[in-house]
Amino acid sequence: MDLDPGTHVDRVELCRVLRAASIAGRHVRIAGGGSGGHRGRRSHGHADIVSTLGLDRTISHEPADLVATVEAGVPVARLQDELAAHGQTWIHAPSIPGSTVGGLLSRAASGHRRLRYGALRDSVLQIVVVTGDGRLVSAGGKTVKGVAGYDIPRLVVGSNGALGVIVEVTLKLWPMPRTSAWFTARGGTAELADLGEAVRRSIHQPASILLGPDRLDVELIGPDADLLAPAGMTPDQAPPVFGAAGLLEIGVPAAALPDLAVRLARREYAFQAQLGVGTCLAAIDDRSQRDEIRAMAITAGGHAVVVDGPDDLRDDPWGPPPAGMEIMCRLKAAFDPAGILNRGQFIGDPVGTR
Ligand SMILES: Cc1cc2nc3c(=O)[nH]c(=O)nc-3n(C[C@H](O)[C@H](O)[C@H](O)COP(=O)(O)OP(=O)(O)OC[C@H]3O[C@@H](n4cnc5c(N)ncnc54)[C@H](O)[C@@H]3O)c2cc1C
Repeated sequence: MDLDPGTHVDRVELCRVLRAASIAGRHVRIAGGGSGGHRGRRSHGHADIVSTLGLDRTISHEPADLVATVEAGVPVARLQDELAAHGQTWIHAPSIPGSTVGGLLSRAASGHRRLRYGALRDSVLQIVVVTGDGRLVSAGGKTVKGVAGYDIPRLVVGSNGALGVIVEVTLKLWPMPRTSAWFTARGGTAELADLGEAVRRSIHQPASILLGPDRLDVELIGPDADLLAPAGMTPDQAPPVFGAAGLLEIGVPAAALPDLAVRLARREYAFQAQLGVGTCLAAIDDRSQRDEIRAMAITAGGHAVVVDGPDDLRDDPWGPPPAGMEIMCRLKAAFDPAGILNRGQFIGDPVGTR
């Protein structure tokens, strides 16, 4: 049964639909705004679509407490407009047209300011989820982040909808930065990596330090007096959003990233590394490039996941199973016992099965 986008989805109805699908073993695909690209393995066979676009209410916004509670289908752009009217923002989310709060959280798309503001998951104070077998689960607290047992908000953020449908979240907000500025430098990767590391050590809380093969971009946020060009850099526009038909997201210890970037540049890959964070997006055209970069990431103590791309690049999206695989499978079974949700997007889903 497909739930129509646009009609308000009652969460009790959502529980009923998922419970019935779980009992019948019918696969379900959760759809937000549809802007999140292709991730995980290609799934075969029919899946019912559950659209979250009807879950579109802003439930509360407490400007004095810097928190807002919204339903998961709220478009990120609309939320940002509502918050901006109060001089506030959900800092992590420069919005891509069409994206919803639930989609962004399910993809854990922290955005380019993670160096300063932390990961997207840390902005979630409370979450309400409908599990694969139709239970309504609420976790976290609206004001204090107190956790006993599993931290369910952190578990669900980045789980690609494999654990449940996010229906509501309470988000920690930030005052809207009044002024920000970008600075750039051009040159060779190794010297730019050194410059980026020098900026990171010498400037208090840069918002982001983005390193590409031949450019370094730094964003600073603060009062005008603090927005001075770092040594060796000049004011510029924000860099273009990094994108490619095939995208690999690398995660390594932050200290290992400059060296990895130099190695990627030597092999003439296009990439954008977030210095100080340890993540890096790389453009890939085929599996051999994927496997070469993944081997580099593993050698550096990390991993590389295909986060967008055509089916053939996603025949092995994750690489070797991570430590803790058994726990992940147990959690998946606890949230979605019949394994019906977003088939192909959980690392433990059987390969090539319907
Ligand atoms: C590497 C990378 C970096 C990105 N960085 C950013 C960024 O900085 N800022 C930005 O705005 N966007 C970023 N994006 C895009 C981001 O992924 C999308 O904006 C967002 O996921 C799309 O939201 P959507 O509602 O269109 O989701 P969809 O495309 O509809 O869905 C995306 C995924 O989320 C699941 N999903 C959707 N809603 C829910 C829900 N309520 N509960 C559970 N699962 C759900 C879907 O099943 C699907 O698996 C990035 C994408 C990539 C690949």
